[in-house]
Amino acid sequence: MNTYSLESFKRPKLKMPYGAKKLLMHSCCAPCAGEIMEAVAASNIDTTIYFYNPNIHPKEEYEIRKDENIRFAKKLGFSFIDADYDKDYWFERVKGYEDAPERGDRCTICFDMRFERSALYAHENNFDIFTTTLGISRWKDLNQINNSGLRAANRYNKLNFWDFNWRKQGGSSRMLEISKKENFYKQEYCGCVYSLRDTNRWRKFNDREIIKRGINFYEIK
Ligand code: SF4
Repeated sequence: MNTYSLESFKRPKLKMPYGAKKLLMHSCCAPCAGEIMEAVAASNIDTTIYFYNPNIHPKEEYEIRKDENIRFAKKLGFSFIDADYDKDYWFERVKGYEDAPERGDRCTICFDMRFERSALYAHENNFDIFTTTLGISRWKDLNQINNSGLRAANRYNKLNFWDFNWRKQGGSSRMLEISKKENFYKQEYCGCVYSLRDTNRWRKFNDREIIKRGINFYEIK
């Protein structure tokens, strides 16, 4: 029987590796970030949220996801860095990988791009470690994410990547519970136009209603 309850959960005090003191947290969205933000807040870890996700399309969807994340950051008292929406550069980087499947090469490029910018910001602003909220999603390949994070951190001498597995010890359940409790906007595709296209292809095939947002970007009607 699952006796888990967020109310009765006593959060352990987390300790960052490498003796790190100042954490930059790359955040992809409020639903993924919720549990992780609560975990670091409960551990009094000096954390700044970094929202850099030019992969999200269309802009309307990007703004909704960002605003939800800002709302929760304000609630918990975190600083929030609203980084660029340089979508043209994102499209440039993934050119040639439009048809790659999720968890494939396009996603590696997408993670690399987001983490390279996060690492640069961390380096320029005296953070000694960074992490990402992306790995808590069971739709993602944790090794793929961690490898991208390590590659980005390795560009700088004094920067490390925190590859903590946020899914474990009930993290996945709490993520869902917090999303529900906070009434977060629930996105229905990973973020890019290609993931939206593929989600809608699957929905159409399975007689499910297709997602209308961003419909002009791709061919399914
Ligand atoms: S499916 Fe998700 S992770 Fe992969 S390229 Fe698209 S937005 Fe990035």
